[in-house]
Amino acid sequence: MKSEDAGQQMEARWQAVLRKDGAQDGAFVYGVLTTGVYCRPGCASRTPRRENVRFFNSPAEAEAAGLRACKRCKPDACQGRAEAPDRMWALCRYLEEHADEAVTLEQLGERAGLSPHHLQRTFKRVVGVSPKQYAEHLRMERFKLSVKRNSKDVTGAIFDAGYSSLSRLYEKVDTRLGMTPMEYRGGGAGVEISYAAEMTPVGLMMVGATDRGLCFVQFGDDADTLLGELRKQYPKAEVHAMAKPAPAAFGEWMAGLNEYLAGQRPDLRLPVHVRATAFQLMVWNHLQRIPAGEVQSYQEVAQAIGQPRASRAVARACASNNVALAIPCHRVIRGTGEMGGYRWGVGRKRALLHLERSAGQ
Ligand SMILES: [Zn+2]
Repeated sequence: MKSEDAGQQMEARWQAVLRKDGAQDGAFVYGVLTTGVYCRPGCASRTPRRENVRFFNSPAEAEAAGLRACKRCKPDACQGRAEAPDRMWALCRYLEEHADEAVTLEQLGERAGLSPHHLQRTFKRVVGVSPKQYAEHLRMERFKLSVKRNSKDVTGAIFDAGYSSLSRLYEKVDTRLGMTPMEYRGGGAGVEISYAAEMTPVGLMMVGATDRGLCFVQFGDDADTLLGELRKQYPKAEVHAMAKPAPAAFGEWMAGLNEYLAGQRPDLRLPVHVRATAFQLMVWNHLQRIPAGEVQSYQEVAQAIGQPRASRAVARACASNNVALAIPCHRVIRGTGEMGGYRWGVGRKRALLHLERSAGQ
């Protein structure tokens, strides 16, 4: 951290102490040199004099400096659920600021005052992915940005994004992004998509797939409109009707969707091959981890992916999902407990949740 940034951070912390800001609890502690005690920012005890105050990133650091925990605000008893998220989000910010460095679990643990093992578990519980996966998402986001900016130099972009080798990146693009950088830039150019439409208990469903996974599952009233939507999403892809008989993999995916819709398979896990931004990908990955029949609010999803202020963006990411069921955006509702919107009608959303709940019994 540059010294002026450090100065600003110290001033911000002091202001938090002055207003006894409980929201900052867990982000840091302050020690009072004259009493030898350290406190949470929100401690109700008398405000110390500025010149006697020192700030620490964690209780562990304060104790290493010879201070003891205040008996009133118990800053060392801070493993509680309420504060862990704040500290994990602070770590997300830290990873964002240090995206070009290899930050270790030990370093993160030290900042949060947790052992590497405990840190890993807490981070995963709050954010939904491990610190390493989060850092990879960030690198991917930077990579995609540089591809967009400079489409001639993919190799340069890969090295800018901190990847040690081409093959390692392509491996990740395959499993996580679905589409390769070339395909991503080209609006699906060079990608072959086969589609088929089928009547289901919740209406007409069109399924589009590449040889690697589902890229389109949508409901509608007629096949022509659905096909138009598919072409709109992948303007440069080669789109054609599924051959008969369909390839074995497609047959299995179709069977999976049908079993799910018949209430025989509540937990649907099918390969997905989509175009997505890093943010959409984070949201969609998280949705796939919400157990069948359960729901989370947009806000909860935003918090889980480490972007607590992004609940509107989460709602947009849900609304822009092209692969119904396999990316279960129907498991996200409004914070008030209302169903919220659904791209394919709120009646369908309710029906899908009902289906999952009765299948799970
Ligand atoms: Zn205190």
